[in-house]
Amino acid sequence: MPNSINIALIITSCLLFVIMLWAAMVSFHEKEKRAFSRFLLLSIVLPIPYLFLALFKIDFQLPTAIILLILTYGSLILLLIPFGRKKQQPVSIPSHQIDERDTMFSRNELIPGTETFDNYYNRKPAYKEVDDHFRAKAGLLKPGSSQYKPIPFASADASFETIGALRKQVNGSVNKNITKTNPDEIGQYIKNWSKKLGALDCGIAELKPYHLYSVGGRKERRDKPVVNQHSYAIAFTVEMDKEMVSAAPSASIVMESAQQYLESGIIALQVASFIRKLGYQARAHIDGNYEVVCPLVARDAGLGEIGRMGLLMTPKLGPRVRISVVTTDLPLIIDKPLHSHSFTDFCTICKKCADACPSQAISFDPMQNIDGIKRWQINQEKCFTLWCTLGTDCGRCISVCPYSHPDNLLHNIVRVGIRNSSLFRKFALHLDDFFYGRKPAPADFPEWAATNSINL
Ligand code: SF4
Ligand code: SF4
Repeated sequence: MPNSINIALIITSCLLFVIMLWAAMVSFHEKEKRAFSRFLLLSIVLPIPYLFLALFKIDFQLPTAIILLILTYGSLILLLIPFGRKKQQPVSIPSHQIDERDTMFSRNELIPGTETFDNYYNRKPAYKEVDDHFRAKAGLLKPGSSQYKPIPFASADASFETIGALRKQVNGSVNKNITKTNPDEIGQYIKNWSKKLGALDCGIAELKPYHLYSVGGRKERRDKPVVNQHSYAIAFTVEMDKEMVSAAPSASIVMESAQQYLESGIIALQVASFIRKLGYQARAHIDGNYEVVCPLVARDAGLGEIGRMGLLMTPKLGPRVRISVVTTDLPLIIDKPLHSHSFTDFCTICKKCADACPSQAISFDPMQNIDGIKRWQINQEKCFTLWCTLGTDCGRCISVCPYSHPDNLLHNIVRVGIRNSSLFRKFALHLDDFFYGRKPAPADFPEWAATNSINL
């Protein structure tokens, strides 16, 4: 056999060994036991045929070696060729505004026996029976729920209470002395500063009526029409910790959700206050006090696309983020939506969240026409009833989503492939299933947060 073929076989085997070993080490660091053992095994198994052909004489050695090399590098090139990248996802516009009173958190605030309760179900009798189901459960962060642990639940409650104390600060007085700003420069400044404050990403959209709830549904805003005359919306995403999310639906998920609502909320409060000091109107939209539908704003601000589970799918971390928003009349330059077809195309074939959802709230079907737009819609009643059983915000869908892997070289190579090639998307899904499992089991509760405390 020619020397060049022998060298190509040996180089390929070394490359495969090094790549698989590196992937195994990354997986070990990520505490992904299954991926670690599989990458490690592959680092031994994959190089064998190449080494065997290079070192031992067999019949048809040369044609076998050439076919093996062509198959290896040919399939690699095929997967990396941009294919279907230019196809754009149209920005779908909802035909009407959402009434916040119909969201589960708003319905959860209704107290039986009150006039508000009766008024709501007189208007929406179809929700009464289904809502009685979640009311019959222990409830969020309540003793008696299946994931109840006093220390983590108290931690989450403390984070929610801190956000609660900040809710009244979403607005404030505006400086009468206006600082003249350049829209491009100030927008860039806000993006840079918010990242310094801990945001993963920041984008700017023109505020549209469909971004706003029609009527408020939480606390003192209940039953009041939402009036917001601002022209722009600035969306911020913050990362949810992978380890805390991976143990979902244990109490770590509610700790992390609460903490990231707080972190994203603080960023929004600071930026809104900053804008008001420059002499412009600005309102922060934080947990429990949103006038806007955050995922829609963030999508239009170019931070991601809406996926099968109805959440914002960001390019770097998929749905493993929380969002806050600032609306303002500060003149700004808006960002373009991603228009990336790759997310919805991947969601169409993936369905991993639907498979993993313990309450079967996520659809396996193709996108449907709902309220004038093509999208997926989860069954929010089924989802919320499970939350009230667990006492936590389940989060299995976020945990298993292939986009939720950490933002590092190993996963970013796969993300580039998913973005560029529809062929690669199918391959990536099989890879994800192979290395992480089709229905990955919840990870262990984070060791640092484990306690033996019980309620007396
Ligand atoms: S798990 Fe799959 S189908 Fe579900 S949102 Fe993530 S990529 Fe889409
Ligand atoms: S949070 Fe849990 S119950 Fe709700 S949609 Fe996701 S996986 Fe299903």
